[in-house]
Amino acid sequence: MNFFNLPSSVQQLKSKFLDDHGVELWLKRDDLIHTEISGNKWRKLKYNIQEATNRGHHKLLTFGGAYSNHIAATAAVGKLLGIQTIGVIRGDEGFENKTLSEAKLNGMHMHFVSRADYKLKTTESFQHKLEEHFGEFYLIPEGGASELGVQGCEEILQEVNLQFDAIAVSAGTGTTASGICRQLKNEKLIVFPALKGGSFILEEMEQYCDSTQLAKVQLQLEYHFGGYGKTKPEQLAFMSQFFKEYKVELDKIYTSKMMFGLFDLIQKSAFKRGDKILAIHTGGLQGN
Ligand SMILES: *Cc1c(COP(=O)(O)O)cnc(C)c1O
Repeated sequence: MNFFNLPSSVQQLKSKFLDDHGVELWLKRDDLIHTEISGNKWRKLKYNIQEATNRGHHKLLTFGGAYSNHIAATAAVGKLLGIQTIGVIRGDEGFENKTLSEAKLNGMHMHFVSRADYKLKTTESFQHKLEEHFGEFYLIPEGGASELGVQGCEEILQEVNLQFDAIAVSAGTGTTASGICRQLKNEKLIVFPALKGGSFILEEMEQYCDSTQLAKVQLQLEYHFGGYGKTKPEQLAFMSQFFKEYKVELDKIYTSKMMFGLFDLIQKSAFKRGDKILAIHTGGLQGN
């Protein structure tokens, strides 16, 4: 597994803004784990792939929309490790975009299904049909959202030796946030859903984290910028300003929303002077 740049580094960001507010901001650079395989997507795939291999599977099947970082990552990992991959894609047969054509170049077999069928993807009858079509495979849930995915994400904080007061992370399914939540000591965890109506993230996290750990979690629901995959001009302006100032690229779907929210909270004095904050850069840059 030495294709991956792990453990990822932890770097402090410096600016007058942060000095003026008396907080330290550090970044866990999971975006640097791999150029094609988004950082947290590898974390979520790692133990799934180990389990597939242990069980003697040579074929991975997973699900996603046409813009899914998880689909891109699974295809790239399959190519890297020599494992066959099948992507069950929500959409019309033959639809093309950069994510899908690159996944295809990485050898992923594309299987398009209608929106209605896609909704049935977790049912036994649907999975049985897929097995009739493709033979035996190891199934990875959409977004890598599973116990094994959470276990991979526990390693994010396990790699960090410094003490922090708060951790910030973006969320789509809440799998990454769950892994972090399990490893919290005295820090609080601030979760920024990239979707509208993100309070379901807490319910997802309840499946994986006990109540003592969940009590340390705070959801910030106001930084979705219109919803999943949507952007707003002030968010894009923040992204380019952030790049200019800190020389770190953020992605449109997840990390720029988190960082915008975090800076807004700092601006509004939501942190004490002297607080040390660790923001997780979950990656996503291949989607930019
Ligand atoms: C997929 C993704 C997330 C969301 O992770 P979840 O574990 O689904 O909450 C966050 N950031 C980036 C860059 C992603 O690609």
